[in-house]
Amino acid sequence: LFITFEGIDGSGKSTQCRLLAETLQAEGREVVLTREPGGSPGAEEIRRLVLEGDPDKWSAETEILLFTAARRDHLERTIEPALVAGKVVICDRFADSTRMYQGLSRGDLRATVDQLHDLMIGREPDLTILIDMDPATGLSRAKGRQGTEERFEDFGLSLQEKMRAGFLALAQEFPDRFRVLDGDRALDTVAQDVLSQALAALSP
Ligand code: C5P
Repeated sequence: LFITFEGIDGSGKSTQCRLLAETLQAEGREVVLTREPGGSPGAEEIRRLVLEGDPDKWSAETEILLFTAARRDHLERTIEPALVAGKVVICDRFADSTRMYQGLSRGDLRATVDQLHDLMIGREPDLTILIDMDPATGLSRAKGRQGTEERFEDFGLSLQEKMRAGFLALAQEFPDRFRVLDGDRALDTVAQDVLSQALAALSP
């Protein structure tokens, strides 16, 4: 089973990914916890190319190519082998993040993102958990974190708002695999909901 987590910066995705992985592992399931951009040695190298340094280093189109290249490597080296071995793969961001960030933040490039996805990736998650939350809360949480690579956060509140609306629209576009959870609640409460959704998807 392939589960992805999506949401704006500071939504608590990474924490929820980790909690779900720990809970499923404690139940005796084999779990691979991974993330994008990155998740394989080659894709982590591309992550550094994209997220570090001058934000205008790449054009929007080149950035889509880099993210797609990273995803292709991640899929070949990490995700597909784990799925073939019957493991549960939990991924912090996947193609939906590219549909939003590269597809919407610098002009409307969604069609380009989708075309490259069809050509080079061609796979969607079985379940996507969207942690929806107030953009201002997310932004203040994200800003409180360490790390210079998170240059995308500099776009600020207007980008967060745009991304939140975009993710909610995406959930409506793919209702079969998306589950939207309210991330403004206590961490444990959100984690309970995440677990129920994962268990529902895992049961035959
Ligand atoms: O999810 P994480 O915090 O690791 O993402 C790192 C940064 O990269 C975030 O600021 C996020 O907005 C950005 N990002 C992006 N495009 C993607 C994935 C992440 O701009 N496809």
